[in-house]
Amino acid sequence: MKVSRYNKLIEKDNYLILFNSISNAILYVEPNKVKEVKEVLESGNIEEIKLSDEDIEKLKKGLYIIPDEFDEITYLKMRLNNYKYSDRFLRYTISLTEECNFSCVYCYQQMLITLMDKKPAKIAKNLVNTILNMTEKRFEEEHPKVLSITFYGGEPLLALDELETLSKGFEEMCKKFDVKYEANVVTNGYLLTHDIVNRLLNCGVNSVIITIDGDKTLHDKYRKTKNDKPTFDKIMENINYAQDKMYVTIRTNISKNSIENVKKMIKILAEKRWRVDFDFQPVEVVEELSTGFNDEMLTLREFANVEAELYKEVITLIHDYPFNPFRRLRMARCDALCKNSCVIDVDGSIYKCWGEIGNKFSSVGKITKEDIELNHKFEKWITYEPFEDQKCMECSVLPMCMGGCVFNAVVVDRLNGSPWRKPYTCIPLKYNLKEMVSLLSNKKLGVKI
Ligand code: SF4
Ligand code: SF4
Repeated sequence: MKVSRYNKLIEKDNYLILFNSISNAILYVEPNKVKEVKEVLESGNIEEIKLSDEDIEKLKKGLYIIPDEFDEITYLKMRLNNYKYSDRFLRYTISLTEECNFSCVYCYQQMLITLMDKKPAKIAKNLVNTILNMTEKRFEEEHPKVLSITFYGGEPLLALDELETLSKGFEEMCKKFDVKYEANVVTNGYLLTHDIVNRLLNCGVNSVIITIDGDKTLHDKYRKTKNDKPTFDKIMENINYAQDKMYVTIRTNISKNSIENVKKMIKILAEKRWRVDFDFQPVEVVEELSTGFNDEMLTLREFANVEAELYKEVITLIHDYPFNPFRRLRMARCDALCKNSCVIDVDGSIYKCWGEIGNKFSSVGKITKEDIELNHKFEKWITYEPFEDQKCMECSVLPMCMGGCVFNAVVVDRLNGSPWRKPYTCIPLKYNLKEMVSLLSNKKLGVKI
């Protein structure tokens, strides 16, 4: 036997918490065994282990100690390939309209539309039908088990009829082929009235992601309507109803001077006892695409500290909050690596990354009369592997991350498709794994030895 290279040892309140980033298992070591377990896992002297057979079994089960012939990198290569080439999932992000009722100060999408002096486009009826026909064909040929749809925009609720037609069609198709249907909408929340929540539920959409950037003062500074009106109060009124009926995620973009306002927002939501999930993201400022945003972005390391601090706040204020920092990471940070995952733009162009919508050069194909026609940029995405990158090979969160956001590696370096690079590649867990596991352990999950 040997020690896994993906163990994290965290000492807390006389206990030792063991985490393994391949198995995602958490094991609590009782204070009287801490010295022994720590010495063995740090020195690698498994032969000298003095634990009971039962405890050793627990260490094996969580992959903290592994058989000599288990090459973890080879295993991760296999696992990543299974994930990338699996027919189990079919995932589409569908952009329904370029139009938006907001003019957020940091929005590149709306800025590009204005710069190009373009009329915002909406998905056409015949494209809606083609997407449905194409999906049915793929159900017949590939037999997926899960269809996962994200409705995106602009503001997708400005194309509600098209959303309903698509979602009802998907829902019926899923019933017919016994496929699980998961659908969510990324919305600014302003139009999410009672009536619209009910219409979404009636067509199988039971999850929404709403961006709120802090308390009223800050949110209204960044996220106004096109007519320069504040939006915070209206969104809160809408969430009040929505959170009782559907799964609501509050996505918050964090910059250097927004942290205290975000804490106030958490407090407001906690006091209301609403059932919402929190998703904190760092604001990404690309200098070449300057917008009206005038705060500074955080470095990833700074963001990682802030993220842990904010989740601590959430857990303290909302006692039954279902905190799980690993939930959103399936087998990799970036779904674009999967062959069955794509973004469909309003004009039927296909992209791998939602951030590329509208950049025709990076399009990996288009929807023809009844199917997807791919070009050779597609392979550049699918064949990307983090094992080519030395920093990933040495990284303790590689099993969860698998190369992070691959935009720079694929769009910039492989496709020469962007003059600018994204500021972040890594996932925050690279810097805050210890804090996140420690927060999770407050909830007394996992097995003890
Ligand atoms: S490349 Fe980055 S931005 Fe694009 S889908 Fe992947 S993680 Fe998201
Ligand atoms: S966190 Fe960064 S270094 Fe680690 S695997 Fe992800 S991209 Fe690679």
